[in-house]
Amino acid sequence: MKSIDEKLQPILRTVLHRNAGETEFHQAVHEVLESLGRVVTKHPEYADEALIERICEPERQIIFRVPWIDDNGDVQINRGFRVQFNSALGPYKGGLRFHPSVNVGIIKFLGFEQTFKNALTGLPIGGGKGGSDFNPRGRSDREIMRFCQSFMVELHRHIGEYIDVPAGDIGVGGREIGYMFGMYKRLTNKYEAGVLTGKGLSYGGSRARKEATGFGCAYFVQRMLETRGQSFDGKRCVVSGSGNVAIYAMQKVLSFGGTVVAFSDSDGYVVDEAGIDLDLLKDVKEQRRERVSEYVARRGNGARYVKDGSIWDVPCDVALPCATQNELSGPDAETLVANGVLAVGEGANMPCKPEAVRVFQKAGVLFAPGKAANAGGVATSALEMQQNASRDSWSFEKTEDRLAGIMHNIHDACADTAVEYGAPGDYVLGANIAGFVRVAEAMRAMGVI
Ligand code: NAP
Repeated sequence: MKSIDEKLQPILRTVLHRNAGETEFHQAVHEVLESLGRVVTKHPEYADEALIERICEPERQIIFRVPWIDDNGDVQINRGFRVQFNSALGPYKGGLRFHPSVNVGIIKFLGFEQTFKNALTGLPIGGGKGGSDFNPRGRSDREIMRFCQSFMVELHRHIGEYIDVPAGDIGVGGREIGYMFGMYKRLTNKYEAGVLTGKGLSYGGSRARKEATGFGCAYFVQRMLETRGQSFDGKRCVVSGSGNVAIYAMQKVLSFGGTVVAFSDSDGYVVDEAGIDLDLLKDVKEQRRERVSEYVARRGNGARYVKDGSIWDVPCDVALPCATQNELSGPDAETLVANGVLAVGEGANMPCKPEAVRVFQKAGVLFAPGKAANAGGVATSALEMQQNASRDSWSFEKTEDRLAGIMHNIHDACADTAVEYGAPGDYVLGANIAGFVRVAEAMRAMGVI
């Protein structure tokens, strides 16, 4: 609380009281309020009419039962969520997460972050997030399909091209989006391509959407490195996770001339000093849906698998946490700094704990917060919506060019805002303020909503 401007402390107290037990949501609000003290000092009008209190309160929260039948014929019940956080800039937009850890606090933290992230893209999209505590691990393809269909039986009432446009996140990729789109189409009797993004190319998906979050993160970090006369070329990189974001961050790092020496899943991590064989990893994860330990078994070059332990013990120049929230602790950050890390880019949402961020910033490490560095996914989702609305389909090159331009603009907006508010090089402050100001301006123009 001490690090928050006195004028804003009552807002945090209300958030803590009203959302008891939602620790990730508290953490996300705390981090944004820490940055806003400078804004309300310079522009007191942003604190008028309870504007910040309204931004911290979701417009709508939907919680629903998802019954489905497993392969043994037994009935299973999960809980579904959709939090429609803020629609000042456009229809709610944000992914769906299927993971056993999902609860309302996690979905709210993600929806809150998403609101500022989407604003940073400069595209007309509001913020939302959803998902379920369903655990896809070990489930057959038919079970996944039945779950997705049941989930959509309820969700379809709350979404639409002009209302709310979900996409993927942890546990939700192209397969799940396909099953959900098929059910939406059936329930509504409409071919409303713009209702979901991350679709397959054969039915309205965008080229480069699958790659966009990881590629975008690498573009952002490359531009950040350039501010110090550096680049990925010749750098050792460690990337946590081995899902959608991690794989395509690695691919872009390789194309920028970097070497990826370690990656992980929730069971352990792999160190491959020779540099990752990305085709092999894609086969293991994307085709066979196996664990990363299988990579080591098939690589046969001395790559080693470490069960448990911390991937952040592996020395590197650039660290890209791309798995999940709070996966990089204060002690992990100290180890990375001691090993000479130059830059950290959050591919995942809030993967670094607040104490880790403080360690990086104190040590002068370039630090890119997720709401800026991983905005390439949602930005390309907005490009998918543009293509759907105009019944068009762009080339990979055109889409990636747009993505690269958007990431450079986000970088520069964060860097320039940090300078404007007296904290050059503080991308956390820059991202929070630049995103907040865009949402706040729109809300002020619309009256008390
Ligand atoms: P994904 O394809 O499901 O991959 C998630 C990866 O993280 C997997 O390797 C998974 O390992 C690992 N992981 C998940 N939970 C973990 C935990 N509790 N501990 C350790 N590892 C864990 O998901 P994704 O789409 O890449 O998303 C990764 C992160 O990026 C999330 O924070 C997400 O919110 C964020 N993000 C995603 C997008 C997007 O477009 N997909 C956009 C912006 C931000 P297991 O296989 O062992 O579970």
